Amino acid sequence: MEWKEFILSLAIGEGILGKVKREIPQFEILPSRTVSFWRPKEWRSEESKEGKDIIVVRVDNLTDNFIHEAAHARWTWRCPKTRQMLQRWGVLLNIVEDARVEYLASTQWGHKFSEEYPPFSSSNWEWLEDGEKLAWGVYIKRIASSTGKEIPPEWKKALELLRVDDCYRELIGVKSPEDMEGFLTKWWGEPLKRPGYLPCTGEEMADEKRQEKEIQSGRELRRELEAGGSQKTTPHRFKGNPPSAEKAKRVKSLLQMLFQNDVEKTPSTYGRYNSRRDMRGKEDCFTQKKVCATNLIFIVDTSASMLSIKNDVRAILLAVKELSKEGVLTGAVLFVGGGECIKVPLPTTKPIEKVNFQGGTNGYKKAVPLAQSYDFVVFLSDLAIDEEDRKAIESLSKKSFFLYGGPYYRHLHALADKWKIPRSRRLFAPTLEGAIKLLLEVIT
Ligand SMILES: [Zn+2]
Repeated sequence: MEWKEFILSLAIGEGILGKVKREIPQFEILPSRTVSFWRPKEWRSEESKEGKDIIVVRVDNLTDNFIHEAAHARWTWRCPKTRQMLQRWGVLLNIVEDARVEYLASTQWGHKFSEEYPPFSSSNWEWLEDGEKLAWGVYIKRIASSTGKEIPPEWKKALELLRVDDCYRELIGVKSPEDMEGFLTKWWGEPLKRPGYLPCTGEEMADEKRQEKEIQSGRELRRELEAGGSQKTTPHRFKGNPPSAEKAKRVKSLLQMLFQNDVEKTPSTYGRYNSRRDMRGKEDCFTQKKVCATNLIFIVDTSASMLSIKNDVRAILLAVKELSKEGVLTGAVLFVGGGECIKVPLPTTKPIEKVNFQGGTNGYKKAVPLAQSYDFVVFLSDLAIDEEDRKAIESLSKKSFFLYGGPYYRHLHALADKWKIPRSRRLFAPTLEGAIKLLLEVIT
């Protein structure tokens, strides 16, 4: 068991882990299937103060994740000032602080991280503001410094005209929270307004309630792992945080428009009367097309690369669950990820809206046979798939739609070109709600 070996190597103080352990204050380490974060004892709520830092580590890349969070425990200032800055500067503080502590971890502890560079997309790059580009520059410099890997030429070229080297050099010289504030103000002037356009730090530092919950479930998971317990992921598949009710409500009303069976309302002159088109003032309110709401399947990609849009996906699932309870739609939801494939027939009482995103995508090969009998297939995926999976989904392409909403949606067109997914099947927008609106346009 990987987790046990890890605990063991901490206990016997071997190599770098021993060194790390000697240098940071007392801490409790907890496994997680979804997130990594550090929570110092100074920031914990009164009732759960135990005199120890909590280090929650996502188990898919144990060493890197642990060293990263341990570096925060060693070098991120525990003072109220840091928390104030985090509130004011948000994700940007995470990005620069991550770069600073990983620099220290790699130079002082000698740890080499194994992270890959994100793909560069010139179409996304064009819309970014200078401050956002600079944040990406620091992010790329962090990977370069902590992995020792050469920066890919396309990134190098993009960063050429920005003063990223100067900015990064100044950052690693930052010595106090006051310094940090001066540094942020000098280079960014004010906090950036569009967090979705910034590189993803993969951490959940800001939301305390969510962290408390994660700490709880980390303790449960540790007990299970230490008992040599089941490796089954199925019971944990639906243990994430629920989406915001408000977002789910908006998504629900959109989906309702899509699947509400309103075709019998009026005698038709030709085709079928479509009240949605009528309501939207479209002249042609009769259409031959229809959605077969009683025979559809949502295929949900639950790989870790979906984490950035997890709340939107969860909102869709909550909406789908409610609509199926109301009899508006039937069918199934199929969760694919980490080689596993779980089919949940609708309506369901399972907490599908709390789905977790972890590990790799692979699994479409198993999923496709399960989806064959449905007339209508909706993929919720970022298309980060391999050749084998592409072949599998190709057999469904005539009746399937690919839904994606997120800041990198333009990048997805390049992937979809590569996988030869027809334009008419691609519903990509900056948000998932936008993508559903596209579906509405295509189908009705
Ligand atoms: Zn971090």
